[in-house]
Amino acid sequence: MAKIVVIGAGVAGLTTALQLLRKGHEVTIVSEFTPGDLSIGYTSPWAGANWLTFYDGGKLADYDAVSYPILRELARSSPEAGIRLINQRSHVLKRDLPKLEGAMSAICQRNPWFKNTVDSFEIIEDRSRIVHDDVAYLVEFASVCIHAGVYLNWLMSQCLSLGATVDKRRVNHIKDANLLHSSGSRPDVIVNCSGLFARFLGGVEDKKMYPIRGQVVLVRNSLPFMASFSSTPEKENEDEALYIMTRFDGTSIIGGCFQPNNWSSEPDPSLTHRILSRALDRFPELTKDGPLDIVRGCVGHRPGREGGPRVELEKIPGVGFVVHNYGAAGAGYQSSYGMADEAVSYVERALTRPNL
Ligand SMILES: Cc1cc2nc3c(=O)[nH]c(=O)nc-3n(C[C@H](O)[C@H](O)[C@H](O)COP(=O)(O)OP(=O)(O)OC[C@H]3O[C@@H](n4cnc5c(N)ncnc54)[C@H](O)[C@@H]3O)c2cc1C
Repeated sequence: MAKIVVIGAGVAGLTTALQLLRKGHEVTIVSEFTPGDLSIGYTSPWAGANWLTFYDGGKLADYDAVSYPILRELARSSPEAGIRLINQRSHVLKRDLPKLEGAMSAICQRNPWFKNTVDSFEIIEDRSRIVHDDVAYLVEFASVCIHAGVYLNWLMSQCLSLGATVDKRRVNHIKDANLLHSSGSRPDVIVNCSGLFARFLGGVEDKKMYPIRGQVVLVRNSLPFMASFSSTPEKENEDEALYIMTRFDGTSIIGGCFQPNNWSSEPDPSLTHRILSRALDRFPELTKDGPLDIVRGCVGHRPGREGGPRVELEKIPGVGFVVHNYGAAGAGYQSSYGMADEAVSYVERALTRPNL
């Protein structure tokens, strides 16, 4: 049993902590923000979040593939985790054929890598099942919708029940974590799940990290499925998207945008207007039981990283073994178990080969 300090209590930190605890390690979670907090410095609470892969294959798709059955099983067997199993319907616009581009292109393929990973995968071309004339076909499959607030609390409660301790504080330098294991001893390994703030954490200062701003609207209206489009229906505003995530409690997250290097933390009212207009234009049934009931507009910064996420073992002079797990961009939930399991394998490598 090793002593581990995990920096960060977003979905990356809590999932990694949980997988380490399940292996019997003694984990202290050190984090400025923890479940229940809402801050622009804490991405995880702002996510929709669903399983909607952005990748055409390769290692990042593998992270998503590992996570899908685990999230599906939680949806089936642990209602307290706040995960709902619900169909995702990707609308592929005729205009976007034959060249699919942008954030939503991977889930619009006719023959995607994940068709045998997810349940109930189907390409729908029967016009009687397609409501919108400008849609060429639908890609439909059983996905999950994770209520981020409920799920983060569930992850934390799982960690606590397995003996994790929590120290709610900001660390300025990664070496500070060496003083923070609850045992009072120096930890064997530090796991860095500081998200976008790996850019500023002393001893890491990963300048490849950048924000990908997301703006969404939380409403008390819902559809019986989740929806996305291959591009914004009106084609302008190319960093924007139309997607609707349907949560277990009758609320929905309507998005959105993918704005790289935009640090703004306030909702842009004109974008809020476009998000809601697009959704109501395409899905007027959102208001079949009453008018649109807006809870709030939200902004979060996805932790983007040039070259992709960093899941890596590093031996930092004067600090010791550090396993990094951050930079999942818009995929932190859907990739969470794949990335966490790889991070755990690096922890074990550090423990079994201390002379690395
Ligand atoms: C609008 C929006 C929609 C999204 N939708 C989806 C989706 O549908 N599916 C999906 O998979 N993903 C989605 N995402 C992406 C997902 O939310 C992120 O990838 C994920 O939350 C990143 O988690 P994280 O744990 O790496 O970072 P964070 O949640 O930011 O956690 C970082 C943690 O590190 C702590 N920390 C940082 N620096 C320090 C320090 N110096 N000292 C102490 N603590 C520190 C913070 O306090 C925090 O607890 C969405 C994101 C947004 C914004």
